[in-house]
Amino acid sequence: MALIVQKFGGSSVKDAEHLRNVAEIVTSRYREGNDVVVVVSAQGDTTDDLIEKAKEINPNGSKREMDQLMTAGEQISAALLAMTIENMGFPAVSLLGWQAGFTTSSAYGSARIKRVDPERIRAELSRRNIVVVTGFQGLNRYDDMTTLGRGGSDTSAVAIAAAMHADLCQIYTDVDGVYTADPRKVNGARKLDFISYDEMLELATLGAQVLNNRSVEMAKKYHIELEVLSSLTREKGTIVKEVTNVEKMLITGVAKDDNIARLSILGVPDRPGLAFKIFSKLAQKNINVDIILQSIGRNGTKDISFTVEKDKMQSAIDLLRDYIETLGATAIVADDNVAKVSIVGSGMESHPGVAADMFEALFEANINIRMISTSEIKISVLIDKADGARAVQTIHDKFFDALS
Ligand code: ASP
Ligand code: MG
Repeated sequence: MALIVQKFGGSSVKDAEHLRNVAEIVTSRYREGNDVVVVVSAQGDTTDDLIEKAKEINPNGSKREMDQLMTAGEQISAALLAMTIENMGFPAVSLLGWQAGFTTSSAYGSARIKRVDPERIRAELSRRNIVVVTGFQGLNRYDDMTTLGRGGSDTSAVAIAAAMHADLCQIYTDVDGVYTADPRKVNGARKLDFISYDEMLELATLGAQVLNNRSVEMAKKYHIELEVLSSLTREKGTIVKEVTNVEKMLITGVAKDDNIARLSILGVPDRPGLAFKIFSKLAQKNINVDIILQSIGRNGTKDISFTVEKDKMQSAIDLLRDYIETLGATAIVADDNVAKVSIVGSGMESHPGVAADMFEALFEANINIRMISTSEIKISVLIDKADGARAVQTIHDKFFDALS
């Protein structure tokens, strides 16, 4: 007998038919004699709809009231799933975040889980109940309900798995695993059997939105193996875990991010402290900077280019336009017709030539590289947006055709 935590996303519980499907998955594990804890998200677009409703009434509603409202979404799906399970003849009980022992920080709307005290869950399991817990929420020290930030139910599931030392933590969603590239857009993309936490984190920030980032960080910290799988296909998914040396893949995935803009500050005086001043200004306004490139100084000046999220482009320009004058730079120019294409793989750490292979693929497709950045397990290039799809395909062909 094992303790299994299963999380179902909003699309998996969106209506009565989907709830029945979930109840079948859950009860089939229960019938094998396992203890089953289920974590659910709000049905379908419920969370978005609730936010919409609130905005109609008060666009600046307090964060506390927003959380009072949003936690209701998960309350509905949890109760409905428990009823669906009951209706199939199995004992079930639904618990809200606070009943399940979730204590969080007080930051409404983006609370962090501080502790999970799973006594109540344990008590219900010992009565042989299937326990359905609302994801995405907890209680803060003012005895107020909080939410964990969008997509937070994954993290709720991992937190329960960690607190209860679960044997298995399965994240059911509407895709059947993690792929080497977006399977809807890239020919030959294939499902991975496993991926490391670090690779998953890189791919998540690159826009492969399968798992919430924080949930992967937490899983890594507490050594929880996750399985990402589809609630519809019933097939084996992708395991996210600490991969061993032999399992390390050269490249696990190719990803594209269009939600990006490049800014260049021209004619920056070539002396110490200017980069510091520019980037701390951006940091103060919470503008995240990604790739940075600085040209070599010539005639006492240099250019500094960097990328930001597309919707931060205008605020970055507004912020820097006057400031760069006081610094003595000449101009700021922006371009949002760009895409970032990246390859991720823990094997590249110990394997030279990966960057060259990637650049060769781009060269063969006659795609110009505008910026490059690398980390231990990632290489990113900035290219023209119009070349994005072609770049992903050609790079994917280069690395993955060779293997098959
Ligand atoms: N229902 C919440 C959201 O849509 C939490 C989740 O789905 O994980 O963000
Ligand atoms: Mg949701």
